[in-house]
Parts: sequence; C-alpha cells; structure tokens
Amino acid sequence: MLSIKENIIKAKENIPENVTLIAVSKTKPIEYIKEAYEAEIRDFGENKVQELVEKYDYFGKDVRWHLIGHLQRNKVKYIVGKVHLIHSVDSVRLLNEIEKRFGEKNITANILVQINIGKEESKTGIYEEDLEEFLKGCENCNSVKVKGLMAIIPKGNEESCRHYFKKMKKIWDSLNEKQYKNINMEYLSMGMSGDYKIAIEEGSNMVRIGQGIFGARNYNK
Ligand SMILES: *Cc1c(COP(=O)(O)O)cnc(C)c1O
Repeated sequence: MLSIKENIIKAKENIPENVTLIAVSKTKPIEYIKEAYEAEIRDFGENKVQELVEKYDYFGKDVRWHLIGHLQRNKVKYIVGKVHLIHSVDSVRLLNEIEKRFGEKNITANILVQINIGKEESKTGIYEEDLEEFLKGCENCNSVKVKGLMAIIPKGNEESCRHYFKKMKKIWDSLNEKQYKNINMEYLSMGMSGDYKIAIEEGSNMVRIGQGIFGARNYNK
C-alpha cells in the first residue's frame, strides 16, 4: 500500500496548478493529516462540524478547513471563524442562519451552493430550476459571499459522470456571465477519488479526494 505522501504525489500528477486539491480527512486521525500537511496539503475537507472544530483547534489558522457535508442549522454557530469555505449550502433557511451567525461576529462566510444535479432524493442540494430564486436570497445578504457551486453527482459509469459534470459546468458558466451582488463563480467543486480526473476534464477547479489519499474509511470502529 502506498503512503499518504505517495498518494498525494501521484494525485498531484493528475491535477493542474489551477485546480485546488482538498484532502478529505473525515474519520481520519490527526497523524494522517500531519502527514498530508508535510506533503504540502493545506486544504482539508470534513463533513461533520464537531470533527472540523476539533481538528481546527489542533492546527489553527495554518490550514484551510472546508465543510463539505450537510450542515445543520443549529451547528452553524460552532464554525464561525473556523471554516474557510462551506461547500454544502442547500437551503434558504441554512443561508439565513449563516447570515445571522457570521453577521453577529462580523465575519464573512464564504460559501458554495450545493446543486442536486441528479435530483436524487437521498441527496441534499438546490435544484437547478430553484437556483435563481436562491441566488436572490444571497444577494440580500451582508455577511455571505457566494464563491461558486458544488455537486455530488449520482453514481454511474464514465459517460454518466461526464454528463453530470458537463451539466454543472454549463450552469457555472451561465452564472459567470451574469452580474450579481455577493456572487462570484470562482470555484466549481466537483470530483472525488473515483472520478476527479473526469471532473477536471469537464471543468472542475476544486476536487475533494478522501480515500485516494488516506485509504478506505472505516465507519464501525
Ligand atoms: C467523503 C466525501 C468526499 C471524498 O470521497 P472519496 O470517495 O473518499 O474521495 C468528497 N466529497 C464529499 C461531499 C464527501 O462527503
């Protein structure tokens, strides 16, 4: 088995300079993160607030923490000032809570809008047709900046992956052409261990790789 460092070197060979590599460290201990840090990774992804906060407290400001999992409204208050980018904003109610909690501390929340591009019931995210309305809400915020879009695409073969990545790129491009307050399409966050090369080919500039760096996750420890 390759080491974390070797996995990172191999992954980077497939990732151009302009694409941000987020090492998804959920369920993994501090020691693993240190090894990735030594391999020059500074962006880490977590899907649980408590885990993100614990790891933030250990590493401090030196690394950028990305919240990539579903965020419950009652947990927003714990990540104010600790999260670099929230990838998973998926409802107006969550948006409003972020606006309120970050606003109280005078801190800007950088967010991505999660799109449920496959319209899967098992997944959260805004439907494409509801996006305009959602973005209007973002324009009314004072403490939220939208930096782009994020998606977790349906499982499938290469052709199906390409289809959904292309769909996302098209939405991202069309928003890029418009002028909004508080909204800039800097990031298109898509692609995980199994499909990040395809995602990059289709225009992703932020990939989230977990198992491909840290090895398989074990949830029943
Ligand atoms: C866990 C997770 C990833 C990483 O998945 P891998 O298959 O381990 O690369 C990426 N994005 C999100 C939203 C995740 O929850």
